[in-house]
Amino acid sequence: MTTDLKTIADRMLARCVEEGDCLIWPGATNPKGLPVAWAGRATASGRRIIWEAVTGKELQLADCILMTCECVRCLNFAHMCKADRSAVIKLATKSGTHRSPARGQKLREAYKTRTGYDGEAVAALVRSSTLTGVEIERQHGIRQSVVSRIRRGVAWPEKTNPFAGLAR
Ligand SMILES: [Zn+2]
Repeated sequence: MTTDLKTIADRMLARCVEEGDCLIWPGATNPKGLPVAWAGRATASGRRIIWEAVTGKELQLADCILMTCECVRCLNFAHMCKADRSAVIKLATKSGTHRSPARGQKLREAYKTRTGYDGEAVAALVRSSTLTGVEIERQHGIRQSVVSRIRRGVAWPEKTNPFAGLAR
């Protein structure tokens, strides 16, 4: 597009912080955590600015830019992939799985807010308990299948935070 957009994109990339091969945007984000920046007349999606500046093409409203690295704040063009909005919605509904620790953490927090169920606390209790699954179910009302999944590290895996055990 215009040289303006290129200048904005260059300035944005200059501010980004390298993390692996991701370029992490340290600036403003929208409520979803996606990078936004002032693009002359209004704030715009950081991804769209970079994509349009690099390719010189204008994105349609229905176009979405996905990050193949699944990092929300990444602005590395090499990690961008253009997709149609309807395809994105299909993808999002299909994959309810945790594909990265950050995403897993987000989902856990969202789940806790939605249900009031504090999985972290339950997991800490199960891990510190010497009781069997049957006994835990009887005493604490935590289902055996959940106990087993926590103990195998499938559900609510322990974080590497050294203070995790002291939280409750
Ligand atoms: Zn990336």
